[in-house]
Amino acid sequence: MYRFGHFGISLLVFAPLGFLLVTAGAVELAFVTGATMLWLSMLPDVDHRVPGISHRGPTHSLLFAALVGGVFAAVGGFLGQRLGLTATIDGFGTVGLAAFGFFLGSLTVVTHLLGDVITPMGVNFLWPVSKKRYSLSLTPAKNTLWNYGLFVLGVFAVAAATVLAIRGI
Ligand SMILES: [Zn+2]
Repeated sequence: MYRFGHFGISLLVFAPLGFLLVTAGAVELAFVTGATMLWLSMLPDVDHRVPGISHRGPTHSLLFAALVGGVFAAVGGFLGQRLGLTATIDGFGTVGLAAFGFFLGSLTVVTHLLGDVITPMGVNFLWPVSKKRYSLSLTPAKNTLWNYGLFVLGVFAVAAATVLAIRGI
């Protein structure tokens, strides 16, 4: 997908997650999660700019998702230890920032892959183990209606989740 399509899918994935976090009392964590998912929604497409790496190759895989999760876990663990930051989620107690970092980093990449798997070019989730590309072939990546449609749907989903979460508090 193009940028706005990826923004839209990030918002769609974030909406229920943000709702759960806000209703569990972790408003700051919800904000950080949403901002990170939007900010890095195009991260795997860095392969357009790195010479020698094929597009939708290594950076469009579950392995890359795990790697980014690992980097986030390290950053989360560092912040948690050095700055004494913790995340408290009702029902879960104190959640380690390293664990949450891994979840957030890998989810951000997987969400991008979801945006690309609906296009005919598909995604090789299991690179480098397999060469098989998975595709739902719903729309070409450049389709304007899909890209902006997903964006509008995403904005609507987050708006609805926000209203529901506020009413529930
Ligand atoms: Zn991509």
